[in-house]
Amino acid sequence: MDIVLNYADHYVLTPYVYPAWLTEDAPIRQILSLLVILNLGGYFLYFLNAAASYYFIFDQRLMKHPLFIPNQVKLEILYTVKSIPLMSIPTVALFYLEVRGYSKLYDNVSDNRLGIVGILGSVVTFILFTDMCIYWIHRFLHHKQVYKYIHKDHHRWKIPTPFASHAFHPLDGFLQSCPYHIYPFLFPLHKFTYLALFVFVNFWTVSIHDGDYRVPDLLKPFINGSAHHTDHHLFYNYNYGQFFTLWDRIGSSFRNPSSFEGCGPIMEVLKKEKLKKESQSNGKQHVKKKEE
Ligand SMILES: [Zn+2]
Ligand SMILES: [Zn+2]
Repeated sequence: MDIVLNYADHYVLTPYVYPAWLTEDAPIRQILSLLVILNLGGYFLYFLNAAASYYFIFDQRLMKHPLFIPNQVKLEILYTVKSIPLMSIPTVALFYLEVRGYSKLYDNVSDNRLGIVGILGSVVTFILFTDMCIYWIHRFLHHKQVYKYIHKDHHRWKIPTPFASHAFHPLDGFLQSCPYHIYPFLFPLHKFTYLALFVFVNFWTVSIHDGDYRVPDLLKPFINGSAHHTDHHLFYNYNYGQFFTLWDRIGSSFRNPSSFEGCGPIMEVLKKEKLKKESQSNGKQHVKKKEE
């Protein structure tokens, strides 16, 4: 995050916003700047990714599903807009520690003795580590003593749209994002790679809510996609994973998505539509016969 902060300081904050006596390394200035950057960046990524996904990927026929709430998209957006500022408070505390140099983030590819190979390796370990942590955190959030206080709100959307991707109780959103923040305090990570991973993670979170249930056949056994996560929203105690199905298989919570078995939410919508059409045409025939 110090890359973004440095850019903001250099181009905007130092020349135009802060008085000269409030230097770039002043803690209060760093905290304030991080809060603003995180909120603006959070909204920007959320609206950009979710809107693109909603208009270009999300199957809008799903909005005719009986479990789709009236005005759901509006409710998902409102919930997210309210949550992001609260979620950002504890997140800024972690970013502040990172900016102050307590993490193991490094600047240059040459700082890794394996160079680019080492960096690619850290991308793999980042994904595996965060996937494992999110699985257990998510499972913990489903514990009956915890669920109703923190995680229930995210399950309000039984048939989620991409706008539900960040519609979490602030504590829920923060806890599930903790693995991403903790990783660079435990393991060395290249700064730009970390930034790219952050954008990717955001994109992935939207993508598992995008109602596009397709996964290439070869990857079907391994990837936790939208089909898995929609079933998680519908059936609760299955498919807690984020990127892979690995931990659901280890933790015996894997459920083959209903969409892969020909009975997913879109099939229900199509069945309902077909029945509606049939009953309408039957009704018309009935009226015709009566007129004759
Ligand atoms: Zn979800
Ligand atoms: Zn859940």
